[in-house]
Amino acid sequence: MSFVEKVQPYILSDDKHVSEFALKAIEKSYLGTEQTFLNALKAVDKLPAKIRSNPIIPFTRNLPVTARILDEVIARIKVKDHNLAWYASILEYTPTDLLAKYQTELEKLTNEKVLHQMIRLRSMDSEALFTEANGVMNALEKREYNHSLFLYGKRALRELINRGEYEPDNFSNIGNGITSALNEELFSLNGIYNVFLVGEQKIQSLVPTLISLLVRTEEDLLIEEAIDALIKIGTEEVLGEVEKYIQNEDTAFAAIEIIGNIKLPAAEEILLRQLDNASDQTAKTLMAEALCLQLSTTAIPMIADLVEDGFDDTILDLREVLYPACIITQTNHPKLEDWKQHLDEMDAYWKQQQKRLFEEEATSKGIGRNDPCICGSGEKFKNCCGA
Ligand SMILES: [Zn+2]
Repeated sequence: MSFVEKVQPYILSDDKHVSEFALKAIEKSYLGTEQTFLNALKAVDKLPAKIRSNPIIPFTRNLPVTARILDEVIARIKVKDHNLAWYASILEYTPTDLLAKYQTELEKLTNEKVLHQMIRLRSMDSEALFTEANGVMNALEKREYNHSLFLYGKRALRELINRGEYEPDNFSNIGNGITSALNEELFSLNGIYNVFLVGEQKIQSLVPTLISLLVRTEEDLLIEEAIDALIKIGTEEVLGEVEKYIQNEDTAFAAIEIIGNIKLPAAEEILLRQLDNASDQTAKTLMAEALCLQLSTTAIPMIADLVEDGFDDTILDLREVLYPACIITQTNHPKLEDWKQHLDEMDAYWKQQQKRLFEEEATSKGIGRNDPCICGSGEKFKNCCGA
């Protein structure tokens, strides 16, 4: 059974600690399937109407949007639903041919002009598409960063991939796009889009080039794109090369994120070996988290020791990943109930904190308990964020 097949049924768990972990463990690996997305939609359906604190919605971005998913979304638009903004954001990740196919239904959900602009890409020839992509890059360089525009640029490039404009005989152009960006003080948008292309086309020969980017830790957008591309390529060669960066304080974060999300046995081996060698508590904590995301049963006793003896709790709470990893792998541990109780208490605490903030906001806006909620769900405040 594949990693995804094993984990995705747990997205439907009634235990929210398990459900949220299961989705996170799959999402960042880029291995999620249509079924993963369907399960996520069902998990959202089970939650109360609150828009602002939905724990599932942010973790669907890397799941594939298919015709079946759009059918489900469209069915939900027709009934009263509180997640319209999320559905609209799904369209930014939907393949362009599906946007065209469902155009009439989707016009109700989003800005018609924006939808038409996306669909129009299909009717452009390659030259016009290159011009469009360059226009996006220039606009992003000149103006303030805009994520929707950044995604639109990726959509234009995907269209070019579909046209066969980025095949092995011009992979060298992609490599050149990255090396010329390396000579600039700040990595250009053009360079970042080329990193994206390496991941989309899984260009093994450019793995060393991508890995050399991991030291540019100040450039968030570039690092994120390089991490994603390396996870998408996801081979043992990537793992072997990335391991060299894991004990370096500056690059450890990125290296561990990549290794934790490539679901191969070699990844677990690397993490076990490195956890044993690590002396820095932050690195150990991150490696322990990555081992949970790999569902390593070998690691569970060691991570349980870390939980007892102390870990870097300023970056994450290891119980949030250790407890669900035990449940999914059906590994018993004498502390299991203690961990769950701790997680439930933390949850109740944060819920209280959040409710207090919502109440302050409502008061400042003059919204009473029986008025429509501050989050725009359409429910009464007392039944929604004020509950
Ligand atoms: Zn609300």
